[in-house]
Amino acid sequence: MTSLLSVQNLQVEFYGFKALNGVNLDIGDRELVTIIGPNGAGKSTLLDAIVSKSPVANGQINYQGKEITNLPPYQIARLGIGRKFQNPNVYDELTVFENLLLALKGSNGVFASIFSRLTKWKRQKITTVLEQIGLTESAGTKVAALSHGQKQWVEIGMILAQDPKLILLDEPTAGMTPEETHATGELIQLLSEVHAVVVIEHDMELVKQIAKRVIVLHQGQTLAEGSVQDIQNNEQVLEVYLGREQIDVTA
Ligand code: ADP
Ligand code: MG
Repeated sequence: MTSLLSVQNLQVEFYGFKALNGVNLDIGDRELVTIIGPNGAGKSTLLDAIVSKSPVANGQINYQGKEITNLPPYQIARLGIGRKFQNPNVYDELTVFENLLLALKGSNGVFASIFSRLTKWKRQKITTVLEQIGLTESAGTKVAALSHGQKQWVEIGMILAQDPKLILLDEPTAGMTPEETHATGELIQLLSEVHAVVVIEHDMELVKQIAKRVIVLHQGQTLAEGSVQDIQNNEQVLEVYLGREQIDVTA
């Protein structure tokens, strides 16, 4: 398998503290990878480093065979890597439709995007994304009126509008009801038919629903890697989670 993204010996430091201490990771084209690990393990930092939100101190990140380590974030986005942050990054006072329009490639600024005539291509693209995220009925609704879960879907939609090759999702089901979480799992599986997807997740039900390959991060390093079953039977993983009720890998 040729890898779409290849992370080698990645190190990220904050004031001398190694948040990532030599992480290696390969993601194949249209591969779905799930990352779990206790709070503070370095999961978000790993995604931050990939999109240059946190500077890489050592190591290398290659994407489509080219080095992208510490490139400016806008260049990384332009290369086709879309990142969803832990808290939805959406415009509350705009409608779902307007949020998606803003995210489309070639849109320049809120007002230019909203008041310029929509090309047929843009309209179709937004229609498709609305269907994917299950918000067709809410297209004209202000994002402020949506549930927390629906806001997360809007943000995923904004990433999809940019046609990424690689989608990075940081705890996409945070604050969701079990039904919303399950629907998000289905959405992630659908997305992984067309895109490579990396999902950071703490909800083991969702991990079991979607996961093919699971990576466990702990103290800035990869602790284990394998199927959900491999992970659930891994002694070291059980030890790390022992007494931590927020994640029960044996559930
Ligand atoms: P996770 O997402 O696995 O819960 P993070 O990647 O957010 O963990 O954090 C890993 C470690 O790095 C934590 O100890 C956290 O406090 C620290 N850290 C993360 N971001 C920063 C930052 N911008 N400045 C200082 N320390 C940070
Ligand atoms: Mg995090």
